[in-house]
Amino acid sequence: MVDLRNINKLIMSKYFEEINDGNMDLDFLSKLDDARELAGIPFKINSAYRTPEHNAKVGGKPNSSHLKGLAVDISATDSRSRFIVLEALMRVGFNRIGVAKSFIHVDDDKEKSERVVWVY
Ligand SMILES: [Zn+2]
Repeated sequence: MVDLRNINKLIMSKYFEEINDGNMDLDFLSKLDDARELAGIPFKINSAYRTPEHNAKVGGKPNSSHLKGLAVDISATDSRSRFIVLEALMRVGFNRIGVAKSFIHVDDDKEKSERVVWVY
């Protein structure tokens, strides 16, 4: 689990490069960091880039945006933090969001429908 508290854009990107071999989309990470700053709370990332093998193992869809480095799952386990994360994501312009009991998925996959929120 990655705690992004107090990590600026550059360091965060570098960190993801290290753990994901540079497979995360940097524009996506930059926008995500804008949301984190706006939210003012740590974003704990449960999942970011996935290899096809890892994606299959965790039951991800074959066309998952995680495979493209365009998605993260942010830990959110109570109603307050869920609201704060959602509000910040939408304010910086994210419009593809999945809400689960313990996390919020967000992606910036231009090959998929815009302005959608789904539940798991
Ligand atoms: Zn996800």
